[in-house]
Amino acid sequence: MNKEELLESVASEIRACTKCSLWKARRNAVPGEGNAKARVMFVGEAPGFSEDLQGRPFVGDAGKFLETLLSDAGFSRTDVFICNVLKCRPPKNREPQIVEIEACTPYLDRQIEIIKPKVIVTLGNHSTAYVFSKVNITFSGITAVHGKFFNAKLLGLSVLLFPTFHPAAALYNPRYKELLVGDFELLKKELVRLNLR
Ligand code: URA
Ligand code: SF4
Repeated sequence: MNKEELLESVASEIRACTKCSLWKARRNAVPGEGNAKARVMFVGEAPGFSEDLQGRPFVGDAGKFLETLLSDAGFSRTDVFICNVLKCRPPKNREPQIVEIEACTPYLDRQIEIIKPKVIVTLGNHSTAYVFSKVNITFSGITAVHGKFFNAKLLGLSVLLFPTFHPAAALYNPRYKELLVGDFELLKKELVRLNLR
C-alpha cells in the first residue's frame, strides 16, 4: 500500500472506532487530512462543532485563522497534513481526558509513522504535552515553549518540533494572536532555510 492508502486505512479504523466513550456522541470522526507526503504536519487538540459536523479538521473559525496563517507562510491546506490528538469531539468542547488521549493517540502515532514529516507543529497545550511526553522533553506549558524549535527522535524519526499557541486561543486573546503570528513568521523562515518550503 502507498502512503495515501495506508492513511485511508487508519481513517477507516478511526471512523469505526469505539475505544473511548467519545464515539457515542460524535456525528463524524475527524481523522485528519492533507498531503500524505507532507513534510510539515500540524496537530491540534480535538474536533469542535463544525469539524464534527463535516468530518474534517479545522473547518470552523479557528480553522479559518489557521488557513490564514498557513497561507502567510506560503502553504495551502493540501501541502501539509492537519489533524488532532483526539479524533472525536468532546461534548461541549470540553478538555480531552487522559483516558481519551491514551485510547486515541495510537492513531496519531500511526499517521506520523506513515507520513514521516520533517516538522511537527503542535497547536496548544494538549498536542504539545503529548508529543513532548513521547520524546522525554519536560513540558512546562505552551507559554514557556512556544516559538522554539526542538530536535527530537519521535517514533524512530528525526523531527523538528515547533510548539505554538492554538489558533482558537488567538480568537479570544489578541496577545496570543500576536504571538501566534510571530511564531508562524519564525516557522516560515526556518522552513525556507531548511528548504522545506
Ligand atoms: N480545534 C482543534 O483543536 N482542532 C480542530 O480541528 C478544530 C478546532
Ligand atoms: Fe476512538 Fe479516538 Fe474517537 Fe475515542 S476519540 S472513539 S479513541 S477515534
